[in-house]
Parts: sequence; structure tokens; C-alpha cells
Amino acid sequence: MPNCVVKGCKNQSLKNKNQDGITFHTFPIRNKDIREKWIEVIRVSRNEPSWNPTVRSVVCSTRFEDDDFYNTNKGLRRVVRNEYPKVISNVSIILYLVINLKISFIIDIFPCSTDK
Ligand SMILES: [Zn+2]
Repeated sequence: MPNCVVKGCKNQSLKNKNQDGITFHTFPIRNKDIREKWIEVIRVSRNEPSWNPTVRSVVCSTRFEDDDFYNTNKGLRRVVRNEYPKVISNVSIILYLVINLKISFIIDIFPCSTDK
């Protein structure tokens, strides 16, 4: 009975199955970059820098934004490629994401000059 791995989240896949529209999502396997991002978010949320997911680790759909999902032909809800858990009620995760976004923003607007 996997629990959502987000710290403080009480959603369980058995208890909440087909209830409240909550779905549970395993960590991406093939896309290493986005997998690392999922792990990083959960590590910050749990304040456990060396935390790692198991094959049974899941994150519930309440930790994603509505736009992060799509429905398959069979009616399964899946996480869009390149999306990751964002809705974490923890100040440090917000700071972490803001800092990351700011860094990439600064890099974008001040590209290294290649002129010689
Ligand atoms: Zn959860």
C-alpha cells in the first residue's frame, strides 16, 4: 500500500483509489533529468538530502498542477513529460524553485558574449 512520499501527505493509493479524483504517479524512469527533479523536490520537502525513491514510491495528484496531467486513450491520468511535483506546502521548496528559476532567468537575459 504505497503512500504519497511528500512529507505530511496522508494520501494512500488504496484508501484513496478512485475517490476524490486523486491519482498516484510513480517516478519517471527513462528521463533521468526530470527524475532527478522529482527526487530533488521530495528531498527538499522531507528535508532528507539523501532520500531516494523505491520502485513503489508514488506522488499523489494533489502535488501537481492541473496543467501537469493528460488523459490516455484508456482514461488513465498521467503526468505530462517534463513536469514534476510543485504543490508542496513547505517554504523551503518554494524558495528552492524561485532560486532555480531566477538563476535560469539571469542566464537567459545575460548570455555569455561570444564576440571577439
Ligand atoms: Zn500526496
